[in-house]
Formats: sequence, structure tokens, C-alpha cells
Amino acid sequence: MPDVTISHLSKKFAATTVLHGIDLTIRDGEFFTLLGPSGCGKSTTLSCVAGLERPTTGSIAVGDRTMVDTASRTFVPPEGRNLGMVFQSYALWPHMTVAQNLALPLRIRKVDRRRQTALIGEALEKVGLADMRDRYPHQLSGGQQQRVALARALVYSPTVLLLDEPLSNLDAQLREQARAWLKRLQEDLGITTVYVTHDQEEALALSDRIAVMSEGHLVQVGSPTEIYQEPATAGVAAFVGRCN
Ligand code: ADP
Ligand code: MG
Repeated sequence: MPDVTISHLSKKFAATTVLHGIDLTIRDGEFFTLLGPSGCGKSTTLSCVAGLERPTTGSIAVGDRTMVDTASRTFVPPEGRNLGMVFQSYALWPHMTVAQNLALPLRIRKVDRRRQTALIGEALEKVGLADMRDRYPHQLSGGQQQRVALARALVYSPTVLLLDEPLSNLDAQLREQARAWLKRLQEDLGITTVYVTHDQEEALALSDRIAVMSEGHLVQVGSPTEIYQEPATAGVAAFVGRCN
């Protein structure tokens, strides 16, 4: 599994700068979280990694492959990056069964029919939903739908998993279960994961390392223990729940 290297990443929307030169290396196999309040630039950062947004300046590489570099005008489109994504805006197709939802990214990649069936079975197995392949999304609970979305992100064996607030639509109890389950899955697969949340408890519970963001800047990068016990600024301390 490769590192993800983000260098001097800046993003403007019209006259507004929302990312101010982010430098960050996410290490091979780690569960890395971008944490910060709503509007601080987490989703924009992840979208630049995914290729759904283009940086104004800067570069992003996955392993030794440059995905985007404004200096050399390199841009690999999302489908060429082999990254698994679970974004809130990428819900399951309601008129398709679970298996059909999972087949879609495989059809785009021109995987043959027999291999599709095998890969769909394996991906559903990973998320514990092997017996749900012929259900429609509305026949599943919210938690199960999120696991299907995760299976769909895993079905083509991505090198990196990008998760943007994947648990935010679940109620508190389901979220708790989903957290434990997500962490276990990531450990089993050993896949490099970039996770976005505004929920500090979720970040502290799940992450190997956390980057705390504020207004388009990285304020602190460290382990959950470092962030919690040695917050770099009063803002970080307040955000992670320590008020001294
Ligand atoms: P977060 O995910 O941390 O809540 P975002 O990355 O979604 O934050 O947004 C960062 C800032 O960029 C916000 O002020 C948001 O309003 C702005 N923004 C995000 N996407 C767009 C867009 N497509 N056009 C204009 N402004 C945007
Ligand atoms: Mg967001």
C-alpha cells in the first residue's frame, strides 16, 4: 500500500481561498483523519485527492504516481486513480440491487461478468453482508447501506480508501457499532485510509494519526494521544474537548 503525499495544496473558489498550502504525508497502511469544524476545508482536501476537484496550485502523489501537479499540468481523472471512495453525495442507486450497485464500478473498469460475480461476493463478505446481494437499498438498515457503500468502494481493490463523514447519517448507537467495525475492517485489510470527520470522539477512537484543520490550514498533526494531551493551540484544545 502506498503513501499519499500532498504538497503545497491550495484551492480557491472564485476569490475565496479555502486551502492555504497544505503539506501532508499519509503513511502506508495508516488510518489517517482530517478533523475540524464544518467549512474548514476537509472535504475539499479529500476531493482533490479523489480528483473530483482540481487544486489551484500544488501536487498530490499516491506512491510514486503523480495524480495531480499544477506545475507540470498533470491531472489523472478520478477513474484512473484506483481510489475507493465513500462520500455522502455518492449514495447507492435505489433502483438497483446491492449486487448491481457493486457491479457498476466493475463494468466501468471492463471487468468480465464471471470475475464481477466473484469480486462482488468477496467485497460483500468483507463487510459481512454476503447474503444481501439481491436486496434493494430500501430493504436495508442505514448501517447496512453504509456497509454496502463501503463494499462498493472496496470491490475493485483500491490502493487507498477515502471516507468523507461516512457515519454521519447514522444514529448514535449505530454509529458506535459502525466505528468499531470500520476500525477492524481497516486493520484486517491494512489499507491506507483517509477519513474526514468533524466528530473529535470519532477521530480519537479510530485514527492512527489526526490532522486538525482550521480555516484551510493544518494546525496540528499527531497521534490521538498527542492531539489530546498536548494540543498545539487553544483552538485545538477547545476542539478536542480539553479546556485548560
Ligand atoms: P468541510 O468539509 O471541512 O466542512 P469544505 O471543504 O466542504 O469544508 O468547504 C471549505 C470551504 O469551501 C467552505 O467555506 C465552503 O463553503 C467552500 N466551498 C466548498 N466547495 C465549494 C464550491 N464548489 N464552490 C464554492 N465554495 C465552496
Ligand atoms: Mg465536508
